[in-house]
Amino acid sequence: MPVETPVVIQCAVTGSADADATRRPNLPTRPADIAREAVAAWRAGAAVLHLHAREEDGTPTQDASAFARLVDAIRTEGCDAVLNLSCGTAGGRAVRDERYACLALRPEMGSLDCGTINFGERIFEGDLPFLRRMAGAFREHGVAPELECFDTGHVGLALQLRDEGLLDDPLRVQFVVGIPGTGVPATVGQVEHLRRLLPADASWSVCAPGRRQLPLNVYCLIEGGHVRTGLEDNLHLAAGVRATNAELVARVVRLADELGRPVATPAQARELLRL
Ligand code: ZN
Repeated sequence: MPVETPVVIQCAVTGSADADATRRPNLPTRPADIAREAVAAWRAGAAVLHLHAREEDGTPTQDASAFARLVDAIRTEGCDAVLNLSCGTAGGRAVRDERYACLALRPEMGSLDCGTINFGERIFEGDLPFLRRMAGAFREHGVAPELECFDTGHVGLALQLRDEGLLDDPLRVQFVVGIPGTGVPATVGQVEHLRRLLPADASWSVCAPGRRQLPLNVYCLIEGGHVRTGLEDNLHLAAGVRATNAELVARVVRLADELGRPVATPAQARELLRL
């Protein structure tokens, strides 16, 4: 994508880390707080909201009704952002086909993790028969997959699913780099290698944790990628300074302005991502 293409800013609002008010006091974990932070991130300039659901007490869940309540709370505020629902494991609580029950809500987007990986202390499973079923569920419900690729082999699996006719071009790819456990380090060199594996018409963005978020946000702005920010990936504005989701989004908006990248509205994001 040329750099004059508007940048789609996606905010990953909460993730599925354990609710822990001591270690992560600024992470919204109650459904009402997640919805409020999501709407604030949209007002700050996020065109896409990446959402994980939680129970009232903050416990992550893949339960479709919890996602439905969260979506309702956000739409009630008049928010027209693209919603991208997680089909992850809710912190290891959901396995395999339980993970994508939320696709029945027919969100515009959902995350499709393209393989197996060590994730911290856990194994995050994604064998090929399961990936085929999950890709089939995305198609059945008319949901656009965001292909989360944690490693070069995950890009290979995404391309295999595409060759098998289970994914449509243009692909939307989220490179998830720097996850403790394995995968690729969160460096520009690694992302450049991953990008070379993609079809020319694919859109791409980078999810990087902690202090690697900001430099890779800037790299994406410069190189014509889209940008992912948010507290799921990084809790701080600077060392020792806790962030809100809206503050992280606002910083990307400022950087985009400085670097000459227009910021996509939700309507432009729908066009750019072919939703
Ligand atoms: Zn997520």
